[in-house]
Amino acid sequence: MATHVPKEKKPAEGRKHQNMKNDIKASQGQWGRAWEVDWFSLASILFLLMFAPLIVYYFIMSCAQYQCSLTDPLLDLLMGNKHLSDIWNSTPTLTYRAAVIYTLWVTFQVVLYLFIPDFCHKFLPGYVGGVQEGAVTPAGVVNKYEINGLQAWIITHVLWFASTSCFHFFSPTIIFDNWIPLLWCANILGYAVSTFAMIKGYFFPTNAKDCKFTGNFFYDYMMGIEFNPRIGKWFDFKLFFNGRPGIVAWTLINLSFAAKQQELYGQVTNSMILVNVLQGIYVLDFFWNEAWYLKTIDICHDHFGWYLGWGDCVWLPYLYTLQGLYLVYHPVQLSTAHAIGILILGLLGYYIFRMTNHQKDLFRRTNGNCRIWGKKPEYIECSYTSVDGTKYYSKLMTSGFWGWARHFNYTGDLAGSLAYCLACGFEHILPYFYIIYMTILLTHRCLRDEHRCSSKYGKDWKRYTAAVPYRLLPGIF
Ligand code: NDP
Repeated sequence: MATHVPKEKKPAEGRKHQNMKNDIKASQGQWGRAWEVDWFSLASILFLLMFAPLIVYYFIMSCAQYQCSLTDPLLDLLMGNKHLSDIWNSTPTLTYRAAVIYTLWVTFQVVLYLFIPDFCHKFLPGYVGGVQEGAVTPAGVVNKYEINGLQAWIITHVLWFASTSCFHFFSPTIIFDNWIPLLWCANILGYAVSTFAMIKGYFFPTNAKDCKFTGNFFYDYMMGIEFNPRIGKWFDFKLFFNGRPGIVAWTLINLSFAAKQQELYGQVTNSMILVNVLQGIYVLDFFWNEAWYLKTIDICHDHFGWYLGWGDCVWLPYLYTLQGLYLVYHPVQLSTAHAIGILILGLLGYYIFRMTNHQKDLFRRTNGNCRIWGKKPEYIECSYTSVDGTKYYSKLMTSGFWGWARHFNYTGDLAGSLAYCLACGFEHILPYFYIIYMTILLTHRCLRDEHRCSSKYGKDWKRYTAAVPYRLLPGIF
């Protein structure tokens, strides 16, 4: 990271160790994800490996077979009205058509990612694209990334509109119409890429010093071994799978759901428009700030395993889009006051999310030489050590939104997430899954990040938490 300027280099410790893994562990123990697995982490991981695919299936099946009721399938099973086999037999299988659509989709995204260098930064003022540097890895490596996600999103959407509305190559409902067969394709890719990443971590890692082995197969499979697996110089697994195909698809999936509403009911409801607009802003924000994304936890600290590989291919596109799917089955038309209230909440959440992230980014980029809310930012000086023994210095801001709470960006994200759910009315719990999930995800992420920062910065982190005592909500948590 630009502000992490090495000031003092110490000789690496533990070089005499025979085993390279232990060697790295000895000097890097204070930084990055866990080296050892406690029973709680292992139990959570086994639970997720077994049940996350079933949860996704259950949600999507509930919509397709039970009008989005989460309780009716269970009641049917408990009361003996149906057997598991009845539900399974009514589920569409993998089709040749879905396999072709999905293969073309992923291949197209790979082509956009790898072969079309960014041109958006040449004419869009303020947009940062093209070749950018990521953060310093625990082994002291600084990776280069081709930031061209905004361009990929624009090209994909222009082609989508041209193909569906101008040339009528296919119907805009194509995604909804193949939703479950596409789920099987997404699962195949999710498992294939996670398994490949695991094998690659053992046999041909991109950077052996940035690998972590706990010795527990399930933990390593789930949380990943390699930090930044790559194929060739530019195909970075984390950047590709985190951003595309899942997040580029997010807005197309919502558009397809809106088109299905139009086809079924002859109109698109204001709730569907709200979900499309608010989530569209979130997606566009992600790509506009893709260079900033290189500094987030996903890229800076998470290793690439099933959690990211399968999660990006399946969990994200299928569960983040539940509101749009729900509205196909339950076309909610909101009163004007209700719709305006949701729009305000969604925009306010987005504003807090973006401004908080922007404040940290500006602060870090300028090394604190900037103005936050018209004043020079306040901060705490801190230091940490990388795997080769180099000592780095950094700063933790204690003013602006970062003075209100240690993760006010998550609070904004949660307010925006709640808005999407509220757009669906109060008839069913299913569209509220997103806010429940995001609350768990971001709270857990907050604790995980704080644990990591505490190991990384030691007593400096304690000074910081004393200066900013709350995590998400000032005065409450
Ligand atoms: P942050 O952007 O909050 O990054 C946390 C890191 O920032 C810390 O590890 C630390 O890194 C640094 N940091 C912490 N406190 C300070 C401070 N006071 N001053 C300066 N730097 C600080 O977290 P994420 O990467 O998790 O999230 C980025 C955004 O993405 C969030 O807005 C989140 O809501 C969103 N998000 C959305 C998800 C979704 O599924 N929709 C999932 C996850 C995130 P360092 O080691 O460099 O000091």
